[in-house]
Amino acid sequence: LVARMRGFGETIFAEMTQLAIETEAVNLGQGFPDTDGPRSLLEGAARRIEQGVNQYPPGPGRPELRAAVAADRRSRHGLDYDPGAEVYITVGATAGIAASVLGVVEPGDEVVLFEPMYDSYAAVIALAGGVRRPVTLRPSGADGRFVFDPDELRAAIGPRTRAIIVNSPHNPTGTVFTAEELETIAAVCGEHDLIAITDEVYEHLTFDGAAHIPLASLPGMRERTLSVSSVGKTFSVTAWKTGWVTGPGPLVRAVRTVNQFLTFSANGALQLAIADALRDEMDWVRAQRDALQAKRDRLAEGLRTAGFGVLRPQGTYFVMADIRPLGFTDGVELARALPRTAGVVTVPAQVFYDNQEEGRHLVRFAFCKQDAVLDEAIARLIRHA
Ligand code: PMP
Ligand code: GLN
Repeated sequence: LVARMRGFGETIFAEMTQLAIETEAVNLGQGFPDTDGPRSLLEGAARRIEQGVNQYPPGPGRPELRAAVAADRRSRHGLDYDPGAEVYITVGATAGIAASVLGVVEPGDEVVLFEPMYDSYAAVIALAGGVRRPVTLRPSGADGRFVFDPDELRAAIGPRTRAIIVNSPHNPTGTVFTAEELETIAAVCGEHDLIAITDEVYEHLTFDGAAHIPLASLPGMRERTLSVSSVGKTFSVTAWKTGWVTGPGPLVRAVRTVNQFLTFSANGALQLAIADALRDEMDWVRAQRDALQAKRDRLAEGLRTAGFGVLRPQGTYFVMADIRPLGFTDGVELARALPRTAGVVTVPAQVFYDNQEEGRHLVRFAFCKQDAVLDEAIARLIRHA
């Protein structure tokens, strides 16, 4: 293995899901729903496969999906992208993020990002030969909403800073950045001529009326932002691995140059079905969001009863829990033991931090599960406490 990838090992999601299988524990680790997406989406894909849409689509994606993505960005956020040159379809957000980072980060360039951070960011920055500069999000206020200190953000920027990765709604904390927080980030990008790469895979999954605001929609940001999203969370089809990058032509060309040689193209039949769903199934998405909000409340309440400190998320599939009230201090130890001692799988938050002390006492639970599954996990955790 090349030196720059040493230390990445197996992803925490693979490790914890394997542990869930071995122990038959309730898996609230890796974030994937246990119910299917909208019928029309599933049938639309099956129909296209039956109809013979089974050969390579164009590398940048099927025109139908690129048009649907552009129409969606325009109608919800007033953002105009040329489907031909400014929308690019990728194998999930994962490939979109990878191609974006590999397309704009030179060896030795620094990339600012917020920790806890989704695990693929560190790995692709390393692949690019870049250096990551984390800014820590910390709980604040009665709900424990994770926020950054603008001074720490400014202090993380140096002469070699090339890009910033912004994930909102944020995995694993559930923070949805406010207009004011995004304005701070946008100002820093403008002052230091940074490229922003946004990860918006949870864009539809926001609660209590919190609105997802794309960073690209702030003044001056469209021209310097690559926005990444995907179908997995929006339509509960995480295995479909179809995503998209939108941005100004020159930046999307950089993504395209790289992605040609990563995956060349993504799945064509799925792209056609997704194009229809982005137009026709948004009511389903809203209902799903409301259902998830109720699941968040259900699990948060259960975790509190079981003795955890609960840091209330405003979006995503996840809730962060503080293990110290239960008398534990090390989330990695607890997460490795819990499948056998309680029959529940969680993910230690520490793995999402460079400054590991910051996340030592936190674990992440997924609530994107059927109520009966959540209730079983809660009952087990209460017995364990
Ligand atoms: N970004 C974040 C924040 C995620 O949680 C995930 C995982 N679902 C991804 C990216 C990857 O998305 P995809 O499955 O579309 O590659
Ligand atoms: N995004 C999912 C999570 O955070 C997992 C995706 C993966 O397994 N890489 O749980």
